[in-house]
Amino acid sequence: MLNQKVAQLLNTQVNKEFYSAYLYLHFANYYVEQGLNGFANWYQVQAQEERDHALLFVQYLQNNDAPVTYEAIDKPETALNSHMDALKAGLAHEQYVTELIHQIYDAANEVKDYRSMQFLDWFVKEQGEEETNASDLIKKMELFGSDAKGLYMLDQELAARTYTAPSLTL
Ligand code: MG
Repeated sequence: MLNQKVAQLLNTQVNKEFYSAYLYLHFANYYVEQGLNGFANWYQVQAQEERDHALLFVQYLQNNDAPVTYEAIDKPETALNSHMDALKAGLAHEQYVTELIHQIYDAANEVKDYRSMQFLDWFVKEQGEEETNASDLIKKMELFGSDAKGLYMLDQELAARTYTAPSLTL
C-alpha cells in the first residue's frame, strides 16, 4: 500500500504531465502559425514525451493498487508574442516540474517509501535533461535567432528531432 499523501501527489503529477503535453502543443501551434515547422516539431515530440510521463505515473499507481483520477487539464494561457517567449516559458515550466518531482520525492522519503523513491529517480534525472534541453534552446535562439538565415538553420535542426519511447519501463 502506498502512503496516502504520496499516492495523492503521484496522482496530481499525472495531471501535471498531461498539462505539460498540452502546454507544448500550445507552443507547437504557435510555431506552426509562425511558419517555423522545425520548432513546432520539437514541441510536438516534447508533448509526446510528456504524455508518456503521465502514463508512467498512471502505471506506477496501478501497479501499486492505488486509485487513479483523471482531473481536468488547465488551459495553457502562456502569451506568445515572440519566437523566444515559448522557449523561456518552457524552461520555467520544467524548473517548476522539477520542484514538483522533488516534493513527491521528499514525501516518499519521509515515510521511507523506497519503492517510490526508486521510481522517481528516473524522473529526477529526466528533469535534469529537460532543463538542459530547454536552456540550450534559449542559448541557440540568442546566438542565431535574430538573423533570418540563422533562424532558418535552427528551424531545420529542430525539424530533425524524432520521438523515442522513454527508457523507463515498469
Ligand atoms: Mg515531464
